[in-house]
Amino acid sequence: MKRSDVPKALIIGGSLGGLFAATALRAIGWQVDVFERSPAVMDSRGGGIVLQTDVLQHFRYAGIKHTNALGVRSHDRLYLDRAGTVVHKEPMPQTQTSWNTLYNSLVSAFPAEHYHRGMKLVDLAQNEQRVTAIFEDGSSAEGDLLVGADGAGSTVRSLVLPGAGYTYSGYVVWRGLVDEDELPDFAKSQLYEDFVFQQDPESLMLEYMVPGLNGSINPGERRFNWLWYLKAAQGPELDAVLTDHDGHRRSHSIPPGGLAVEQDAYIREKGEQQANPAFRELIRQTKDIFVQAILDLKVPRMVFDRVLLTGDAAFVPRPHTAGSTAKAAQNARSLAQAIDDIGDIDTALQVWQQQQLAEGQRMGEWGVSMGNRIMGIT
Ligand SMILES: Cc1cc2nc3c(=O)[nH]c(=O)nc-3n(C[C@H](O)[C@H](O)[C@H](O)COP(=O)(O)OP(=O)(O)OC[C@H]3O[C@@H](n4cnc5c(N)ncnc54)[C@H](O)[C@@H]3O)c2cc1C
Repeated sequence: MKRSDVPKALIIGGSLGGLFAATALRAIGWQVDVFERSPAVMDSRGGGIVLQTDVLQHFRYAGIKHTNALGVRSHDRLYLDRAGTVVHKEPMPQTQTSWNTLYNSLVSAFPAEHYHRGMKLVDLAQNEQRVTAIFEDGSSAEGDLLVGADGAGSTVRSLVLPGAGYTYSGYVVWRGLVDEDELPDFAKSQLYEDFVFQQDPESLMLEYMVPGLNGSINPGERRFNWLWYLKAAQGPELDAVLTDHDGHRRSHSIPPGGLAVEQDAYIREKGEQQANPAFRELIRQTKDIFVQAILDLKVPRMVFDRVLLTGDAAFVPRPHTAGSTAKAAQNARSLAQAIDDIGDIDTALQVWQQQQLAEGQRMGEWGVSMGNRIMGIT
């Protein structure tokens, strides 16, 4: 049977990186299917993300409309000491969004019948410019290109680049979200629409406002998003942090609602001792604190014939760069542009790889030096 002339992409991973790739390739006329291992609708994962130009450019490129503004504007950067005194203040307007806001905008712009949930890739095969993805349920799919957008623990990467895994940086980030109306007035007025920090030796806390769970950026309906970077030594200390309330040692994060009782008590107690009064209130008012290990990952190659790696599957820069989501968006848009401009897929992939490798390495190195300096790691 003669197959269609419309090229087909298989996207593995249906989070932001996968949806950026899917919507960019559809914008140049490709047929695209997304395969996401999670069987449930992913609607409450993650917290705040600094909204960068690359993400907005992607929305324009892919013709994605959004009804609301995508983020909450912050005005100043404030540095507080432990007593809550402002030790430094500078104007630095920027916009913060959330994982949910971006995910919901992207997924609603992609045809639901081509977004396949509960599909975990376990293997792949390549043959004469065709790729076959093999899933845990025994089914398979075939396409002209397979995009590994399956995150830091990528199965695609383990198949094409065995042994290229992430390393642990030496510190973790504790995180939480608090509805705007749940914070006492004194804390709200100090944190309101600003990007606020408390830097101590080997510790950095920060806060900014993000849209509400429903995407609203209306005053009263938004959320305060906080993060606290702290060291946790590899071994028993990190094992304790990453062991959830059911006793399972997770690979690199505990989602909201999963924290062990002892770890929840540990971080709340530490907040009482070390956080300034406004940040202390943020921690007190957070229902479900969650935690992520800070990882480093860089790959020497992103293209393996007709299989490629994008987003966190290829490079995980430190979050201080505030650039991982922008990088995933840039990976996707430049891939579609290269294929559209060059025509020949294999040549386009080589050109794309050269640009994206250099940018991934640059961002990775910058993030490591910034993170190590912030956390006092030599
Ligand atoms: C503390 C912290 C703060 C951050 N702050 C920012 C920020 O301010 N700005 C920013 O830009 N970024 C930030 N990030 C990073 C950002 O969230 C990610 O870089 C971005 O979402 C791109 O991720 P991704 O889609 O490549 O991978 P992921 O979001 O990890 O998605 C991978 C997807 O693949 C699926 N999957 C995995 N394996 C399989 C398989 N075998 N088969 C099928 N599906 C599979 C997973 O279920 C998941 O949905 C932060 C990260 C951290 C940890």
